[in-house]
Amino acid sequence: MTVNEVCRIDETRCVGCGVCATACPAEALVLTRRPEGEVDPPPANRRAWMTARAEKRGKSMGGIL
Ligand code: SF4
Repeated sequence: MTVNEVCRIDETRCVGCGVCATACPAEALVLTRRPEGEVDPPPANRRAWMTARAEKRGKSMGGIL
């Protein structure tokens, strides 16, 4: 997302892939590991991941999955 020509990360949509950090020519971003207590355990499978992502966004996957 760009606001006043400044890129901002929408943390509700970021999946932490790190592409922005490796692609930024100004090296304005770095990817850092979150503290141990803030790291969510990995989802059991793709369906669980999709459901959790939808819930964080206030959406429901009911009827889709
Ligand atoms: S880490 Fe990946 S998903 Fe998150 S803002 Fe950067 S490119 Fe987008």
